[in-house]
Amino acid sequence: MRTAFRSDQLADPHIKEAEKALRTCVHCGFCTATCPTYLVLGDERDGPRGRIVLMQHMLESDAPPAPETVKHLDRCLSCLGCRTACPSGVDYSALIEKSRAHIEQTYRRPLGERLIRDFLLFVLTRPKLFAVLSWAASLAAPILSHLPGPIGIMSRKAAGAAKKRRPLRVPRSQRGKEAGMLALAGPRILLFPGCVQRVLAPQTDAAAARVLARQGLHVEALPQTGCCGALAYHMGKTEAGKTCARAMIIAFEEASAKGGVAANLITASGCSAFLKDYVRVFADEPEWKSRAERFVAKVKDFTELAKNAPSAAMPGPSAKAVADAPTIAYHPPCSLQHGQRLHGRGEALLGQAGFRLAPIPDAHLCCGSAGSYSLLQPAIADELRARKLAAIRSTGASVIASANIGCLTHLSGDLPTVHIAELLDWAGGGPKPDIL
Ligand code: SF4
Ligand code: SF4
Repeated sequence: MRTAFRSDQLADPHIKEAEKALRTCVHCGFCTATCPTYLVLGDERDGPRGRIVLMQHMLESDAPPAPETVKHLDRCLSCLGCRTACPSGVDYSALIEKSRAHIEQTYRRPLGERLIRDFLLFVLTRPKLFAVLSWAASLAAPILSHLPGPIGIMSRKAAGAAKKRRPLRVPRSQRGKEAGMLALAGPRILLFPGCVQRVLAPQTDAAAARVLARQGLHVEALPQTGCCGALAYHMGKTEAGKTCARAMIIAFEEASAKGGVAANLITASGCSAFLKDYVRVFADEPEWKSRAERFVAKVKDFTELAKNAPSAAMPGPSAKAVADAPTIAYHPPCSLQHGQRLHGRGEALLGQAGFRLAPIPDAHLCCGSAGSYSLLQPAIADELRARKLAAIRSTGASVIASANIGCLTHLSGDLPTVHIAELLDWAGGGPKPDIL
């Protein structure tokens, strides 16, 4: 596809990258059928090919976009299913990220939209505040959950999460042995607790640490670190996203001074996908770009690090007990299968551990969670959730497993949901998740 950017525009590395993506697109439309929003709305402008045209016009003109353009780009989930499907290798991610930043810098949203976006960002990226508000929202859920818009959705989600939020129960016979499971030496894994997950599902990181400890890895949490920056960056608020990213990189550098760091880990795949994007994020800042390169070289998703390893201190359940556990539908998050191009890892880990799995039809399609999307675009998100749950129910599975807190929270309320780390932990000798 021909482009018409000025040379001064191309001096911006983010525009340069976007232009490369535009030139690679041949408008074949192979991506259209894999786009969740096109499947729901049936409008070419709500599919990747149409959005690519809208983004080209907007970025080339360098002018504030029309409200119609913003509407169709806001409806994009950034799931990157189109990037996986594209035979030409169009990097859709570069395009949509630059476009979101351009919208944020040049377009004045209606006051209500601005307030909602700023409120979500302010609350979700502050774990202490989010913990207090989600506790209050779960108490007030009988009233608040009937409200329309993000407040109602958040209180429904908070109420659902409050029911699930609990420390994993360690069987009486195994208490005291659990501490001995944690490796105190060995290659160091820096664990970034993130923002939302540490409040909604603190048991996930504990389970992941036990799984990795059985492999002889020494997991070291960095609780002083906060949000990875994905929420802000994906809203187009690049500076706010970069501020979070810099704090993560600095924490890694300080922890690395002692040596022996084998990996940087966040157990939410939406966050690990963004950590791997830090080099692109800092493409226009050479010093931070090279610091980001050192950081990104060690970023791993939990499913890349985990292996099924039994514990000598806490022998796991029998193979029969694992095989007799409820059948599991593993939902691969888009941030894993499309964002990080890690296909089939979660399914392989659960299968090797002995769980019965039921493959989900159209597993490549997004569930509608997509970071803050389910709060900002509730109608489309709810439709995608309903379709995903129908697909899961058709398998006969009675538990949903995944690797991302966003998907697990969005899909909760129907079948029980659980992070893959909790299942692998149990199979390796850790506490049994309540939902089993
Ligand atoms: S499949 Fe790739 S080349 Fe074809 S329209 Fe979609 S993005 Fe463009
Ligand atoms: S990122 Fe997802 S929602 Fe957006 S155009 Fe691509 S497939 Fe569609």
